[in-house]
Amino acid sequence: MSKLETVIGLEVHVQLKTKSKIFCSCSTAFQSGPNINICPVCCGYPGVLPVFNQKALELATRVCLALHCKINKKIYFERKNYFYPDLPKGYQISQYKMPLAEAGFLEIPSGKKIPINRVHLEEDAGKSVHKEKYSLVDFNRTGIPLLEIVSEPQINTPEEALDYLAYLKLTLQYIGASDCDMEKGLLRCDANISLREEGKRELGTKVELKNMNTFKGVRDALGYEARRQESVFKKGDRLFQETRLWDADKARTSVMRTKEEAHDYRYFPEPDLLDFFVPQELIDRQAKFVGERPLEKRVRFIEKYQLPEREVDVIISNIWLADFFEEAVKVYSEPKEISNWLLGPFLEQLNNLAGDVGRIKISPANFSKIVKYFSQGKLNNITAKRVLCAVIATDEDIDKVIEDQGLHQVSDQEQLSGIVEEVISSNPKPVNDYLEGKQSAIMFLVGQVMKKTKGKANPKVVREILEGRLKK
Ligand SMILES: [Zn+2]
Repeated sequence: MSKLETVIGLEVHVQLKTKSKIFCSCSTAFQSGPNINICPVCCGYPGVLPVFNQKALELATRVCLALHCKINKKIYFERKNYFYPDLPKGYQISQYKMPLAEAGFLEIPSGKKIPINRVHLEEDAGKSVHKEKYSLVDFNRTGIPLLEIVSEPQINTPEEALDYLAYLKLTLQYIGASDCDMEKGLLRCDANISLREEGKRELGTKVELKNMNTFKGVRDALGYEARRQESVFKKGDRLFQETRLWDADKARTSVMRTKEEAHDYRYFPEPDLLDFFVPQELIDRQAKFVGERPLEKRVRFIEKYQLPEREVDVIISNIWLADFFEEAVKVYSEPKEISNWLLGPFLEQLNNLAGDVGRIKISPANFSKIVKYFSQGKLNNITAKRVLCAVIATDEDIDKVIEDQGLHQVSDQEQLSGIVEEVISSNPKPVNDYLEGKQSAIMFLVGQVMKKTKGKANPKVVREILEGRLKK
């Protein structure tokens, strides 16, 4: 038997970052209680009329442009009919025959361009909460604007799927179209996966995968499913077209439903909404928001700043951080040093601020000043971090903080020699250990000097003095 090839297609639903729902004025804000953001329109009362949210169209168009899609100038909505308790209308307003856009692509770091089949707008359904003996339904999510992005089945490994998802998420975040928080359900992903003998054109029996709630879940589920199908294939057994659910705890998929025939949703044009024309002027305006895409930024950063890929990956994972980095480098053109301090102490401080960049007040110029002072020996590792901690949420004047808190690094030989003498005489055991060849004992002594100078001594100079003194 020839080698088997895995074929994966991804269907991603993202919530567009609008203030109100797609066909009514209910808020899209996250609600802690059920059935708060609802009205007769999103609850499907008879006689109500949907009104299309212009902002949803703008954001959706922006996404399509970022994904290099061809935008259909005339679009219309259709009803996708099915019954489910969390779908009060008995149909979902979606797009079928004429999606907003088609034929785009998303490039991943390997250089492969994953083709995108279509991008369309639709409304979300509600949420069913199943209890032991009964079920509850929450309509807060009915009518939340969603964009469905469907890739062609041209992804060949779980890792490629992960790269595709990661860069899709980044792209959407960069252009401000969605927050893409998977934990909050703002980005959801279903996959279909099949195997075929390498070189063959026709696709094998495909399995649809659902319930992958994290990026890791997507990769693990696809990996599991590829191995499962391969073993069925090699045994000569038959694969069934079915939908399987990923169980993250048991790390396996199980059958949810078998689907011998495709669903018939009886799509038909939504009679309550007119056809829409996407004006060229709207497209031109949205194109301005696209800017440099995440992968383009990645390539440029690696080339321009000569940084290791893993550092660039962290910097570009947040457009705010990437912009901050570039501004800082403009002031102090040592990208590697800026990167070290940004990815180390700076991110640590950001974590202490609950990851909220809105609370960061330090300017890139002031940040790079701290890095420069450290590099020049004006501040040591400890005092530089102390200054950063003091100004990160205030952007106070760096020089003033150093002056006020007396944080200038002490490199003065004479001043430090006196303290070294004190440390030597009050620590006979570590001194003896060092003299008997225990190299690590010197670090303890350096530490003692640092303590006595409240962290302000230049540790390099201290070590040199200590080594010179103990050689005698
Ligand atoms: Zn509503």
